[in-house]
Amino acid sequence: MSKGKEKVQSTLVVVKPDGLKKSLTGNIITKLSEARLIIIAARVVKVSNELATEHYKQLKDKPFFPELISYIQGKHHNCERVMALVYQGPNAIEHVRSIAGSTNPEEADPTSIRGAYGRITTKGVYENVIHASSDEKESEREIKLWFKPEEIVVPLYPTLNTTKKTVHVLEWA
Ligand code: UDP
Ligand code: MG
Repeated sequence: MSKGKEKVQSTLVVVKPDGLKKSLTGNIITKLSEARLIIIAARVVKVSNELATEHYKQLKDKPFFPELISYIQGKHHNCERVMALVYQGPNAIEHVRSIAGSTNPEEADPTSIRGAYGRITTKGVYENVIHASSDEKESEREIKLWFKPEEIVVPLYPTLNTTKKTVHVLEWA
């Protein structure tokens, strides 16, 4: 694609629990840096059942859905955390998907993240190390699901100011 047609996009990347358990965070971020995108948000998250179910809601009727939900929650790896990042830049979605590789790690290009580090479990789940948004509609939905506006260092989507009457916050003692 010519540079003139490149569109600035934002995309959600999640380093899944197998990526963290295998100490691959550094390798993954290094590999993604080939795309010359910028990181505009990052956080380590303990994935609730609610977040997992909402994130993968399009797959809720698939036979592997229950296993997928426990996988993303870290229950297969005794590692109940993931690292969520937002990458931004020209054609970010396609760039990141291509560096991530195909969903099935056995079919993924061996030099892609999933091809190099993924595996298929005996229960048939693709432990493919990272999530990457598939299109613009999904990236917006997912970024808004995983991040609050103030956790992203640039204005990304329209926001609104609301005043909440009773807010309970956890503070350092
Ligand atoms: N997945 C799986 N088996 C399948 C298809 C998907 O275990 O046959 C898992 C895999 O971890 C994948 C996730 O479900 O990354 C989400 O599936 P999707 O089709 O959205 O693939 P992705 O967008 O992650 O490439
Ligand atoms: Mg997907």
